[in-house]
Amino acid sequence: MATIKLEIVSPDKVVYSADINMLIVRSTAGELGILPHHAPLVTGLVPHAMRVKIGSNESLIAVAGGFMEVQPEKITVLASAAELPVEIDVLRAQKAYDRARKRLEEFKNCTSSAECPVDGQRAEAALHRAMARLTASGNPVA
Ligand code: ATP
Repeated sequence: MATIKLEIVSPDKVVYSADINMLIVRSTAGELGILPHHAPLVTGLVPHAMRVKIGSNESLIAVAGGFMEVQPEKITVLASAAELPVEIDVLRAQKAYDRARKRLEEFKNCTSSAECPVDGQRAEAALHRAMARLTASGNPVA
């Protein structure tokens, strides 16, 4: 089975590096499946759990956002933050999720977003980062 090298880099380390068969990501333009010999591509990534396929195995890696560059032989993900399931502090992600939900509730109750003490977009982004971590760690939000 053909392979393509995947390297996921966060600001402080190489999070993941391996030869894989397929990567499924959520880009700013929608879901993308990347196979070996894919056409060159650069896209933004939204917070989600990336799906890495090697043979019949599929594993998840949380990405908080960033960019992906695809070359026929190599995929590079430059992530603002990324974690393997074993690296995820589930309790921390759950607390971040609850905090973001609470802030979004407060934001919805504001009559004017300009005068609202809550930054709705920031809360929404935090919610999606927390959901990505919960999904990748095997604790998806119901
Ligand atoms: P929190 O509010 O819990 O800090 P966050 O979404 O604001 O979450 P980020 O800014 O995306 O956090 O990440 C900051 C750093 O903390 C990164 O290095 C990231 O890998 C790490 N990190 C964030 N949440 C977790 C978690 N639940 N488990 C492990 N590492 C985490």
